[in-house]
Amino acid sequence: MTPPRPARAVRVPLTGIALAAFPALVGAQGVPPTSDRAQIERVVQDYFAAVDGHDRAILDRAFHPNAQLAAAIGGYWERPYEEWATFTRSPVAADVDERRNHVVSVDVAGSAATAKVILEWPSVRYVDYLTILKTDLGWRIVNKVWHQQPRWLGEFADAPTPFFPPPLDPTDASLLPEEVAPGVWVLRGDRGAVNNIGLVVGEEAALVVDAHITRELADEAIRLVRTITDLPIRWLANTNPHGDHTFGNAAFGPETTILGHTSHERTPEEFATEVAVLRHFTGKPELFADAEFRGPDQVFEHRMEIDLGGRIVEFLHVGPVNTEGDVLVHVPDAGVAFTGNLLTRAQVPLLWTGDARDWLRLVETVEEMGARLLVPGHLAPVEATAILAEARAYGEWLDGAVDAALELGWSPLRVGEDLALPERFMPPGPAGFQSMVRGFHALNALRTAQRRTPS
Ligand SMILES: [Zn+2]
Repeated sequence: MTPPRPARAVRVPLTGIALAAFPALVGAQGVPPTSDRAQIERVVQDYFAAVDGHDRAILDRAFHPNAQLAAAIGGYWERPYEEWATFTRSPVAADVDERRNHVVSVDVAGSAATAKVILEWPSVRYVDYLTILKTDLGWRIVNKVWHQQPRWLGEFADAPTPFFPPPLDPTDASLLPEEVAPGVWVLRGDRGAVNNIGLVVGEEAALVVDAHITRELADEAIRLVRTITDLPIRWLANTNPHGDHTFGNAAFGPETTILGHTSHERTPEEFATEVAVLRHFTGKPELFADAEFRGPDQVFEHRMEIDLGGRIVEFLHVGPVNTEGDVLVHVPDAGVAFTGNLLTRAQVPLLWTGDARDWLRLVETVEEMGARLLVPGHLAPVEATAILAEARAYGEWLDGAVDAALELGWSPLRVGEDLALPERFMPPGPAGFQSMVRGFHALNALRTAQRRTPS
């Protein structure tokens, strides 16, 4: 990991738009601003500099200490200034040089003003509305409300507005070992949607399922495996090619053969996109500074099995559902299946590459497999009987509802953004989790509509 960059003064260039909004500033460098408009401009530029440089002293020059912030992104959110401003304690973001901030408009009436500003970051675009008052302290921002629109990459580029990614950031996460059947373990990520690792122990060898999101977490998983068994880790299987399942591959030694679907191979460009996506998803570019690619050593097309000594493990390609390369890892004698990004606690999946019918096909495959316990790559293991009927009901509803919306003349994008998820399919959980599920559903509706619409 790269060390955090020290906070430093950030000079924010005045863009053409900013200059047009503030003609009084042109040619006035070095002279303390006197007009109200120029002082407001100073406040806004301080705000930009403080956000980019994580500089609390500059931030305090821009905001009134009693200021309030609010947004309505995935639910209503508000904070007093003092609480929001704690972001300045974290290291300056690595993408700071690629950010572009500008002022769209300013409106002043005596002692009150509003400003609309845009902060263009590589991963997200913020549109802020600032309320600014001439207080005893001078002009100060007293209120900020905003909208943020993530910029996605690669296969994520066209995600509809309600979508936001699961919380994959592994900072401070632990892996908690739990034996779910004799010799079958899950090392559970203990926060957010941080990845799980699977372990299957036979009489002669062990199989690890998925390699986690960073080298560090993969090393921790290997350490935990060593507290459970001395047998060689002869195989590591990836349930999909995404970085949160594969970036730890490189931590495994030459004695471990990595198994994957043919679609798990990655060109250097594809690997770079995986890294960029996870930088954006986690907001922690520094976690992936030395991410290293190690692809599968042995690939299969449809199905393969291995013998761990007295124990057969079956691998089944079931993509495209969440990815082209979704793989189920089935341990028949234990009644356990590792399902990767599929069949997590929510019966609403995330169909990046598949559609409603692919989802129904997957549900049928798992039903036929007959596993009692499903161990997803994220969140807690779930009894098959507790989720499959609901998962099928959602797929059948989505299949019909998308057709009906298209018949009404809706565009695929409108289907993604406006086809509401019925409450009966919403899993219980906190508001943030439910907003995430709603975003997943928006993508599922979009993908299903796109497949039905000739392009
Ligand atoms: Zn995943």
